[in-house]
Amino acid sequence: MASTIIGHDEIIHALDRAVHEGRVHHAYLLCGPPRVGKTTVGRWLALRLNCTGSDPPCDQCPDCRAIRAGTHPDVRAIQLSTDRDPTLGLALDLPARPQRAAERVIGIDQVRALQRDAALAPHRARWKVYLLPGAESLSLEAANCLLKTLEEPPPQVVLVLTAVDPGSLPATVVSRCQILRLAPVPTAAIAAALAARYNCPSDRAALLARLSGGRPGWAIDAAARDEPLAERAQDLADLDVALTDSLRARLALAERLATEFGRDPARVLRTLGTWQIYWWDVRLVQLGCSDLITNLDRQEELTSLAEQLAPSLVDRQVGSTATALQRLLQNVNPRLALEALLLSTPTRR
Ligand SMILES: [Zn+2]
Repeated sequence: MASTIIGHDEIIHALDRAVHEGRVHHAYLLCGPPRVGKTTVGRWLALRLNCTGSDPPCDQCPDCRAIRAGTHPDVRAIQLSTDRDPTLGLALDLPARPQRAAERVIGIDQVRALQRDAALAPHRARWKVYLLPGAESLSLEAANCLLKTLEEPPPQVVLVLTAVDPGSLPATVVSRCQILRLAPVPTAAIAAALAARYNCPSDRAALLARLSGGRPGWAIDAAARDEPLAERAQDLADLDVALTDSLRARLALAERLATEFGRDPARVLRTLGTWQIYWWDVRLVQLGCSDLITNLDRQEELTSLAEQLAPSLVDRQVGSTATALQRLLQNVNPRLALEALLLSTPTRR
């Protein structure tokens, strides 16, 4: 068995054994945080089931290559049109109708197309595998329709659903799937993989692994593009403004972030997330746990802040940042929430 997956060894091992012993479940629900590797594990199962090499998945045989390219006729994917990853599998043919691009919903047409396709024998492989990433996007109608397939699955059909939280799916769907929970991957494993396979210098690999919070997909993406680290640099520069004693600068920053929140809420939520981790790091330094910090490249300034600020102030700031995040998520006036946070930020000497 070859696995190029970063982490999740136990789940891969369990799936490998299930295939080897002929105990493949007809439906799996892979759960875990965004970018932790749910879809990657789902694709691995498709490879493991349909590889025709001697040590499956071999990544070399025509079936493995077609699955990797997203062109295998027996590995299909149901995805939101806005999220479509062409390497995940062939899209199912849908009756022509105007795209409802604004709807973030997997509809009943897609599930019916899956059911029509699943009723036919495999084209060339042993198994027909259907990947449904982001199963929380299934409309209730579509989820109910899918129940038929989950209750009486055609032989040789395996469904792989992924979701961040099984609680966001109808219980009737969840109860008919085997649930596999993907935990965050140890950062050492992510750093080692970035350095060995993605040509990432070891300092950068270690930093990205920590910043990823155990999500290899995020780390791989951040190793390939400059944007995630540039975004973080901007967030930390903004935090630097918040730490000054100029009231005017703080209020101007609150206003800018509030405007940004109107355009792109996720971006501002990430900013506050970055700040929260930064404050945690200051606290960790105060506790003598510098080896656990996330912002490895900011050790000096973290140490300086840790020396200047009372631990109670740092604790309070961790809490204030969490409160501001909550308020933004609850649609409290963003400007008020951000002003409160920026005015409560301690002043750096
Ligand atoms: Zn193969």
